[in-house]
Formats: sequence, C-alpha cells, structure tokens
Amino acid sequence: MRVARFAGPDDPRFGLVGEEDGTPTIAVLKGDPLYAGFELTGEKVALADVRLLAPVIPRSKVVCIGKNYAGHAAEMGGPLPSEPLVFLKPNTSVIGPGEPVVYPRQTQNLHFEGELAVVIGRICRDVPAADAAKVIFGYTIANDVTARDLQAADGQWARAKGFDTFCPLGPWIETNLEPGDLRIRTTLNGEVKQDGTTADLVFDVPTLVAHVSSFMTLLPGDVLLTGTPEGVGPMQVGDSVGITISGIGTLVNQVVSHD
Ligand code: MG
Repeated sequence: MRVARFAGPDDPRFGLVGEEDGTPTIAVLKGDPLYAGFELTGEKVALADVRLLAPVIPRSKVVCIGKNYAGHAAEMGGPLPSEPLVFLKPNTSVIGPGEPVVYPRQTQNLHFEGELAVVIGRICRDVPAADAAKVIFGYTIANDVTARDLQAADGQWARAKGFDTFCPLGPWIETNLEPGDLRIRTTLNGEVKQDGTTADLVFDVPTLVAHVSSFMTLLPGDVLLTGTPEGVGPMQVGDSVGITISGIGTLVNQVVSHD
C-alpha cells in the first residue's frame, strides 16, 4: 500500500494511493493509519486535485546514518565507520513533496543527499535484526539536506543538518517493499547526480534498526535515514532536486532564497 498524507480543508488527511479507471486516486482513510489502522471513509479524490504533505511528521526524531555507502565515505574522505555513524535531525526540519528547501544565509555550500527513509510503526527497543521488519511501517524517500561548510566547521552536525526545511520526505510511504536492492537516483535540474542501489549499504536496514534501537527507544512515526550513495553535490537557489527510488516513486523539491 502507498500511504499519502494530504492537505484537507482543516487538518491533514490520510489515504491510500491507487488507480481508478486509469486515474491516480486516493482512497481516504478515517485517520492516521500509524495509530488508527486502515479504515476507509469510502470517499475518493483524484491525486492531481490534492496537495501532498510530508507522509509522516516524525513523532520524536529523525535518526540519520552517515557514510553508509563506501563510495560516499570515500568522497567525504576518511575510512568507513566500523559501526553505524548516527546523528539526528529535528522533526522541525521535515517538509513535504513540492515544498521549498530554504537556502540559509549562514551557508555557501548547500548539498543534496538522496536517501531511503524507514518509517517506524511500533514503539520498540532492542530489536534483533531478524525482527526489524516487525517494527517497520514502510519506506519513503528523503533528502538529507546538508550545509557542507557548516558540517566541517561545527564538528557537531546539529546546525549543518538541522535547519528548517532540511528534511524533505515523500511523496508517500510504501508499506510493501523489500529494501535490500532498490535503485536510488538523484537528479539536479534533470541531470543525474547520484545513481546507486541500497544493495551497497554498508549496514543494511535490519542492522540499522537493531543498532539504533540498542540505545534509544523508537516511536511510531520516527524516521530513519539510511545514508546516501556517492555523487553528493551543491544546490543553488532555483534548482530542482528529484530523488527516485524504485518501488516508491519520486520526491521533488525546489531550492528558494532565504529572502
Ligand atoms: Mg545523509
């Protein structure tokens, strides 16, 4: 199932993306399926008629993994981490598909990082890797937007990774997906910049869930970013970044000035 969150007249609504007579359609759900299950209202709306929002607002945190593809670790310099390198983005950095990434005045080197994102479905701690699938709600696409100059200057990455709008998520959550070998491509204004596969993850999704949950409780709606393939690079104001992962779809965001 593809779970979308979209703008309603008052509060955000949730629905299942499908097709009806060849037209992409959303079957509306009664509530947030993370908490309320998959009860349909019976109402259907055309996908083209709604504004998609971030498919989830992480309840407590976005957990991110650094240098989790050998090619990217090499382009960043230094050795591969011997265990997953973990950092956090605040949930206030999350935006949805089509929403603008704001280029901060504090940086001169803003980078895209296309990544597979795991959405946690159940409160959990100390999850064995073999049981990771039981706590995963589904998968979506993330751009781990990074102020590369601040990342180097600060040491700690909270600012470089944590600005408002630095975590585009979407376009929806795919709940039926095997994450072990998914093609992941990032384009900048249509030009391919990253072209990798999750088969090249240094630490795979089950290993990451086990590692992170070994020291922090994960809550429903928390999001885990799995790292980016090689090919990261700068974005400028006006640029359009598209990230496509096989079996999920494409997340597109534009970069706008802070002014
Ligand atoms: Mg990253």
